Amino acid sequence: MNDEIEISIESFLKLTKDSFLLIDIRSEASYQQGHIEGAVLTYKDVGALRDTKLIFYCQYGIESIETAAYFRKCGYDAYSLQGGYAAWLKEQSEFLDIDELERYDRQITLAQIGLIGQEKLKRSGVLIIGAGGLGCPCGMYLAAAGVGRIGIIDHDEVCLSNLNRQIAHREVGINKALSLKNTLSGINDKIEITAYPYRFSEENAEEILDGYDFVIDCTDTAETKFMVNDLCVRCDKPYCYGGVIGFEGQVMTVIPHKTACLRCIFEEPPTGCETCESHGIIGASAGIIGSIQALEAVKYITSPENILTNKMFIFNMLTMRSRIVELGGINNRCSICHE
Ligand SMILES: [Zn+2]
Repeated sequence: MNDEIEISIESFLKLTKDSFLLIDIRSEASYQQGHIEGAVLTYKDVGALRDTKLIFYCQYGIESIETAAYFRKCGYDAYSLQGGYAAWLKEQSEFLDIDELERYDRQITLAQIGLIGQEKLKRSGVLIIGAGGLGCPCGMYLAAAGVGRIGIIDHDEVCLSNLNRQIAHREVGINKALSLKNTLSGINDKIEITAYPYRFSEENAEEILDGYDFVIDCTDTAETKFMVNDLCVRCDKPYCYGGVIGFEGQVMTVIPHKTACLRCIFEEPPTGCETCESHGIIGASAGIIGSIQALEAVKYITSPENILTNKMFIFNMLTMRSRIVELGGINNRCSICHE
């Protein structure tokens, strides 16, 4: 038996596979979400292991020291894996550095994301169209989640009446795309952020969309939303539509030519739509809808089973009633999907 109770990852990886028994002492849920190859969760007949080298590990290699010490007292050749599962994960990733693995630790722990999902997030690019009430929270969560490239397009300047909901902006009079970029850089300096301080249009759409994997519509007028829809479908770019007014919000994700688009539901932009200016809006409502849009992007990239495709999520944040309207897929009469 070695006096040192902890075994480093480096030494552990050099051991021949059959020379030890690796025991995961975390919860069953954690084990199911991910564990070191070959590890067992529990071992019923420990008595039969008198001559086996036992290596225990937990999440960070702290509790496993106590477990190994206890087993040593009982006469076993027991060790604790230094740094635990987190250290092993770090060793497995060539793409994410140690700081990133720690920064994203709580989401890497999720079965739906894991190390592979986190690497996918880093490799992905998301474009946010509109750096207002939806774009600010959406961008902040995408930056915090570690989306590798974030683009922000907005021609508008920050004004004082924006600040009740556009929480990434600090200074009146500066361009919103540049202002949001500035805030996102402060949240996460490990990602690449590009600001396009001009209007998203038919002329520049193709070139800008080309560099991104997913688009988020955070615009605020019906006309612009339909334009974004049409351009994303034409350029075959998956996107998430979101809208909020007063206390009510809606979200839908569109995979072009596979799932229903905005124009599959409404042929033309509804006329006389309320705007935040005419109807008013409470900032937290925009925060919730923008956050759901960020979640749609993260889910699309990491585990797209549960995204809001062919369905519209509608949330009344005054009554707190929500519903999902199921859409029957692409509308055969949709002028854009059947262009
Ligand atoms: Zn359509």
